[in-house]
Amino acid sequence: MIKLILTTIMTSTFILANMNVVVSILPEQTFVKKIGGDKVNVSLMVLPGNSPHTYEPKPSQMKNIAKASLYFAIGVEFENIWLEKFKNLNRNMIVIDLTKDIEKINMASHHHEHDSHKEEAHHEHSSKDPHIWTSPKNVKVIAKNIYLSLAENDPENGLYYKANYENFIEEINILDSKIKNILSKKKSNSKFMVFHPSWGYFARDYNLKQLAIELEGKTPKPKELIMLIKEAKEENISAIFTQPEFSDEVSKVMANELKIEVIKVSPLAKNWEENLLNISNAIAGNH
Ligand code: ZN
Repeated sequence: MIKLILTTIMTSTFILANMNVVVSILPEQTFVKKIGGDKVNVSLMVLPGNSPHTYEPKPSQMKNIAKASLYFAIGVEFENIWLEKFKNLNRNMIVIDLTKDIEKINMASHHHEHDSHKEEAHHEHSSKDPHIWTSPKNVKVIAKNIYLSLAENDPENGLYYKANYENFIEEINILDSKIKNILSKKKSNSKFMVFHPSWGYFARDYNLKQLAIELEGKTPKPKELIMLIKEAKEENISAIFTQPEFSDEVSKVMANELKIEVIKVSPLAKNWEENLLNISNAIAGNH
């Protein structure tokens, strides 16, 4: 009985207060804030500078889980281990799957055919590409999933969320046109080189090909590196994109060999729109 009363009190308090939600990665925080505005408190799991493939939450972050009503999962690797623990910690928290209605593509593996270790243990990247948010097309679907779940769980602010959602979709449409314009001089299927293969969906959207240095989450062996350098020369690669969450040692060696630039750009940047414009400009050679 006492438990029931307490639950009732807590529930009514939550209706008056902002909704507490948790996201895995920084771009999701940006998306949820676009739609949730000042009606939602967003806390972030994978703190800047860390990789969502290997992240371990800090004890202080567990407190945010304990008071959250929603968790927006986006299918990054650390969720495989932690989501179950989060659910056990807070059984009232609803987990929303933001990958719903998004068709995942396979990880680019064009040079694996040269790899004699094909049968090696399957890594996280051995099947579907988890980096769905690098595609404006996918982010429209993500935005819709966010909007629907906010409106469902906080119907009083439903119209507010709807207006914000519609504005955000309009922003994404404008962003998409800008990117197309920037890349308009690139030939179809132009290749760009990255260390970690985070940009597969972006490449798909804009008819580009991403050439990754890292193979199935591993740094290439010397023999593989020589083949990559050969390929980069043949493809006239003009820069290598690395991200601060990974070491750029190998990229620097390659860039030095190819006499090209290393450009840091993180798919986990907070300013998602500006970030996509930056990488588009860099791919187009406007750097
Ligand atoms: Zn990744």
